[in-house]
Formats: sequence, structure tokens, C-alpha cells
Amino acid sequence: MPPRNPSIPEPYAGRIARVRGAMGGRRLDAYLVFDRMDQIWLTGFTGEDGGVLVTRRQVVLLTDGRFAETADLEAPFARKVLRKKRGPEATARELKRCRAARVGFDPSHMDVKTFGELRKLARPAKLEPVSGLITAMRQIKDAGEIAAIRRAIRVAENAFVRVQKWLKPGRTEREVAARLVYEMQRLGAQGASFEPIVAYGATSSLPHYEPSDRVISADCGVLVDWGARVDWYVSDLTRMLWPGSIPRRFATVYRIVKEAQERAIAVIAPGIKAGAVDRVAREHIRKSGYGKQFTHSLGHGFGLDVHERPGLRKKSDERLEPGMVVTVEPGIYLPGVGGIRIEDDVLVTETGHEVLSSLSKDLP
Ligand code: ZN
Ligand code: ZN
Repeated sequence: MPPRNPSIPEPYAGRIARVRGAMGGRRLDAYLVFDRMDQIWLTGFTGEDGGVLVTRRQVVLLTDGRFAETADLEAPFARKVLRKKRGPEATARELKRCRAARVGFDPSHMDVKTFGELRKLARPAKLEPVSGLITAMRQIKDAGEIAAIRRAIRVAENAFVRVQKWLKPGRTEREVAARLVYEMQRLGAQGASFEPIVAYGATSSLPHYEPSDRVISADCGVLVDWGARVDWYVSDLTRMLWPGSIPRRFATVYRIVKEAQERAIAVIAPGIKAGAVDRVAREHIRKSGYGKQFTHSLGHGFGLDVHERPGLRKKSDERLEPGMVVTVEPGIYLPGVGGIRIEDDVLVTETGHEVLSSLSKDLP
């Protein structure tokens, strides 16, 4: 028989302690987690239907019968509450049982309907919105998380190299996207971290294009934005593929984007503002005459989610810290002609940065 309350293993013990520390500072008796990735980060429990209630003494998993065994295997230290129906009744009952008076939750992970119902059912407990408590903690990755991100990058890169060899004129965008996902899974990914973007020719000027049955020919480039999920952590990369020769105009634009990216990566270090990194790339593209064609921010943090904090955005005052992992992905988009984007994954280290991705950016 396993012990009833095994002690909490690392890294979860440390993370739960930090959440309890933050609860103390806000005079909260409990904190409710309804985001699946927050739940995985905090407890290791991957069940889809779940919630976590952290009190000063206990960690309670709110889930249903389908995930009972998973919960025992992944988070044996937690008290498990199997709810019989959807809705906040079981959550409210647990709040009463632990006599919580002030209960924090992240308003970006609770819909208005649930909030309304839970607020009534949980009385006299008071629900207190606390934005981004775990989100802020998750932006600094520990060694285990960085190792998982490295694996997710390797898998995505190796899959890309295989697709590059397989690609020839006549394939469609959708085939390329499907092949990428297939190769990533064969290499050990749970799946793609998001639906790959495969945009051929003029469609590559649309930053969030969806692959279609458009046939790829030798006279244009293909923008591929993809990533793998490995051990729950993701990668996010963009490269251009050139099935034929590169039109001269694209070669020039490609060089500008690559220089902008290299300059931005070069300044990444602890203490620099996220906005300053964005501006380095933006300035270079503006001076090269394409300022209006760089239409999105420079990059974003990632980890369990594809988009996490910090955002490398023009106006961000957030300062980079060791352990943050961000994408650096400048682009130039010429409507009706095509777009160029290059995206790499960069770790902020104690002394500067390390580019975690390693696929070549040289033109063929
Ligand atoms: Zn991307
Ligand atoms: Zn990205």
C-alpha cells in the first residue's frame, strides 16, 4: 500500500511553496487553478478535466473518474476529489471543507458563468481575482524545463530536415504540414505544438496563414512556422524553404530579416528591457526601408504554452531574466508578393544568452 500522503517531490514542492508564499502576501487562504498548463506545471497532473485547489496545508485535485488513475500516478501527494458532474459544486464543497475565507483565482482562466455560480455556491468564501500569478512564475524555466524545451527543438529541427529532403515541386502546402507533424511524431513528439503554417509564394505575406491545397512550384519560397511538443514542452521555429532558385528581391529582404534577427539576439541578456530587444530589430528593418512591413512584435516567451510571457514587444518595460526562453522572429511582409520570417528560440542565461535552435539560416 502506498502511503496516504506521500511528500511532494521536486520540482512541484518548490512551485507549490512559491504559490503558498504568494497567497500569504495577498492574505489568501486558498488558490484555485483552472488552466491545464498551470495545473501540469504545479502538480504534474496532466488530466484534461481538472482543477487544483492549493490551501496552506493541502493540494486538492478536482477531476472526474476518467482521470482517477492518472491522478494517482502523476500526483500521488494530492488529495483527489472526483466530481460526478460538471460545474462548480465540488469546488465549492472543497472550499467550505477547508474553511477558506479568501480564495484567489486567475480571471483569465475562469468564464463568467462559472464565476457567477461559484461565487454564490462558495459563500461566505470570497473569490479574489489575481491576474497572472502562476503565469509570472512560469516565465522563468528551471533546468528540467530547459532540457525538455531543448528536446522539443531537436525533434522539430530533425523533422524539418527530413521534410526538406522530401520536398519537391508538386507537393501541396497541406502535404508539407502533414509530413512535418508525421515526422515529429516519429521522432518522439506528442504532436505539433500548433498547426504548422506552410505558406507558399504570395500567401507567405499573411503571418497566420492556414495551409491549403496550393501546389508548390520552383519559382517561389515557402514559409514554414512549426514546432513540436515533447514531454509537454514546446518549440516554435520558422524557416524559409526554396524549392527552386531565389528571386533576387527575396534574397535582399531575406538578408535584412536575418540581420535584424542577429542584431536583436546579440543584445539579449539579463536586465535588458524586452521592448529594447524588439526595437533593435525594428530599427534595422526601418532603416532598410521596410519599417511598415514588419507588422507584428519581435517574439514571445514559450514553455508549456506556445505564447507565454515575456512578450518581446515595442513598448514592453519587462526586463529579461536568466531562465526565460523567448522566440526572436522578425519578418517582412509584402502584400501580394510574399513574406519572409526567421524564428529561433533563445534562452536568457546568467551572462547573456544561448540560441537553442541550430537549423541553418543560409540561403541555398
Ligand atoms: Zn512560430
Ligand atoms: Zn512564435
